[in-house]
Amino acid sequence: MQRILIIEDEAEIAGYLRRGLTFEGFTVEIASDGPAGLAAARENPPDLVVLDLMLPGLDGLEVARRLRAVSEVPIIILTARDAIPDRVAGLESGADDYLVKPFAFEELLARIRVRLRRNQSAQQTDVLRYANLTMDTAARDVRIDERRVDLTAKEYELLELFMRHPQQVMTREVIYDRVWGYDFGGESNIIEVYVRYLRQKLEAAGEPRLIQTVRGVGYILREE
Ligand code: CA
Repeated sequence: MQRILIIEDEAEIAGYLRRGLTFEGFTVEIASDGPAGLAAARENPPDLVVLDLMLPGLDGLEVARRLRAVSEVPIIILTARDAIPDRVAGLESGADDYLVKPFAFEELLARIRVRLRRNQSAQQTDVLRYANLTMDTAARDVRIDERRVDLTAKEYELLELFMRHPQQVMTREVIYDRVWGYDFGGESNIIEVYVRYLRQKLEAAGEPRLIQTVRGVGYILREE
């Protein structure tokens, strides 16, 4: 789970952010002043920091500078002051983005997601590999050795789920939830149908089976 550190002295705003971000699946930690925020970031490095500019004790810009001096963590500043000089000062302090209070939660969420994605793609490769299978998630290109495999959108999503969790049993519930969505009301054998399609395409040149059935439970990506 991705961790977000909120450094904000106003309890009401901090609570609002905590509720919203927790609901969206993030782990949230709150610090109510600059020194506490720096200590929290040092003890338990977050994936992203939401930082209020007007803080007691240590100013938000100074907090951003000190964070940036020791870490590449994305920083989104919240500011009540919609002034150009503040924005420039914030950028120079090493912050990645700004939101001017009052802001809509969805807007903050969108910016958080952009920052986390950017950070991830800088650190992680876009290419997933398992056995002789290669999936380039940027190009949406799937290959077995050198042979290119053409997949429909759903087949691709299903295979990506397996590729991101190799040698791990994917239950039918998890597959439904992740590939078809929790409110899917289609035929009950849809997973079997798509696994069959995938196997046909992945084994078209006589390759050994990689998607194995776990009887009564689901499927697993594993060499036989
Ligand atoms: Ca404040």
